Amino acid sequence: MPSYFFWLRYGWSPGLLLAGFAAQYFSWFDFRPLLNDQLPLVLLGGATALGTFFKSSRTAYAAALLLTTWLAMGHLDWLQPGPLKAVSLGLVALNLALVAGTRDRSPLSGFGLALGCAIAVQGVALYLLGDCCTDLLATSWHLPIHTGLPLSAAKLLFASALLLASFRAIFRPDHTAFAMLACIVVLFWLFNRGVDDWGLTLSMTGAGILLVLLVLRSAYELAFRDELTGIPSRRAYSRYLLTLGRNYSIAVIDIDHFKKLNDRHGHQVGDEALRMVAGQIARFGGGRAFRYGGEEFVVVMRGSDRERAERSLEHMREKIAGYSLRLRSPNRMAGNSPKVRRSRGQGGKGKVIKTTVSVGVAVAGDKLKTPDDVLQAADRALYKAKRSGRNRVCVQNG
Ligand code: GH3
Ligand code: MG
Ligand code: MG
Repeated sequence: MPSYFFWLRYGWSPGLLLAGFAAQYFSWFDFRPLLNDQLPLVLLGGATALGTFFKSSRTAYAAALLLTTWLAMGHLDWLQPGPLKAVSLGLVALNLALVAGTRDRSPLSGFGLALGCAIAVQGVALYLLGDCCTDLLATSWHLPIHTGLPLSAAKLLFASALLLASFRAIFRPDHTAFAMLACIVVLFWLFNRGVDDWGLTLSMTGAGILLVLLVLRSAYELAFRDELTGIPSRRAYSRYLLTLGRNYSIAVIDIDHFKKLNDRHGHQVGDEALRMVAGQIARFGGGRAFRYGGEEFVVVMRGSDRERAERSLEHMREKIAGYSLRLRSPNRMAGNSPKVRRSRGQGGKGKVIKTTVSVGVAVAGDKLKTPDDVLQAADRALYKAKRSGRNRVCVQNG
């Protein structure tokens, strides 16, 4: 079961948005004076453009979809009969859930364009339905918005959307999946109100803020997170140094004989080992971990407690040395029969590899004043560790 931290990590901004809507719903706070009619245009338009620019297709599509909905319902009066609005909202929610299930790529790729066309076709179909069958919708179905077939259809669409988006958020969690789920809940809130102008502006503004934050976050991740290992990158390290006081230590960690591992098992296995080592360093290193480059990492620890730093690095070294990285067997059985399913997740007959790291650490002090001095000293300690047999922690005294 995921920890509280896990839910907090992905859920805090969508959670804040939903808390805002709850506050409005229960009349704890009134957001009306803060709203402007054109805010959704600015926010959703901005999120579409930024999402396209940063190749976050999920965000770009969600924003474009909501922007079109806002225009169609609030400004162009395309979707006038109430029942049609209700069904359209359900359809938008389902499309959001489907978009959430894809993976990010350029919105201008073949897949992206096909997805765009599929969404546009639904829009055109709704428009035509509204255009040609207004009377039919209003009379033969005898439909005030809150009764009848369209309402059931809309509820069914919402239920499917919520279910799909929840599965995606639980089983393949990331910031986008959680944000999409929150957007669907917000649409449901709007659906329950009966799609009035003010509710439309509030919900689209809320969703717009969330999507803009999402796209800014993905830009931040692009700049400061290492793609392969998922831990902060060297650029993040340079930024982090600016926040340090006078008491800190820096450890440099280098994987032993990594070239051999690559040569023997291939680069993909090498990458898997890098991810494992990065995860263990981030978890047990005792400070903030960064990928410095190649198979080298740094850990920055605040405070002047040298022994504590040494102890946590030693613990981390032991964890890495004791970790068995189980490789998938190349001739793993394919298919989905019960026998094959049983054989999965039990380690199977895949090969097991182990790897070790050498660590050099230095503490800032009178002789080592700048982070560059400390890093160089840690590097010297690392070479000492390599020369004296690897798989050990060496300390460079200031
Ligand atoms: P030592 O114990 O002395 O550190 O030996 P080493 O083989 O680890 O040292 P060396 O610096 O010669 O080799 C580093 C290797 O790391 C070479 C390069 O192919 C590999 N490497 C660097 N970045 C990556 C990466 O992102 N993925 C993979 N698979 N390998 C990488
Ligand atoms: Mg190296
Ligand atoms: Mg190495």
